[in-house]
Amino acid sequence: MNYLSHAKLKATETDPVILAICSDCLLFLANGDLPPENTEEQDRQYLDRLAKHSKGFFNISPTCSGDPSFSWTPCETCGSRLGGDRHDANALIETIEGAD
Ligand SMILES: [Zn+2]
Repeated sequence: MNYLSHAKLKATETDPVILAICSDCLLFLANGDLPPENTEEQDRQYLDRLAKHSKGFFNISPTCSGDPSFSWTPCETCGSRLGGDRHDANALIETIEGAD
């Protein structure tokens, strides 16, 4: 790897990905809203799960495009295993420097 391409790689340090996220995460990541029917304890548990499962991702932004699709696949930002709609969200991955 020559100096120029190495400098370019370091300048980016990110790889965009598309995540499949649940409706709760869509609402929270787009508007900062939590489900109104949640108790404080449920809110806290949700935020803990979100912090744990979305570790390594940043700038997570729902694309709000296309139709959501039903899935049993765990939500990729909070890890919820409840079946339900999954929405697309763009995210950047924190890369580890010097991994190559
Ligand atoms: Zn979720």
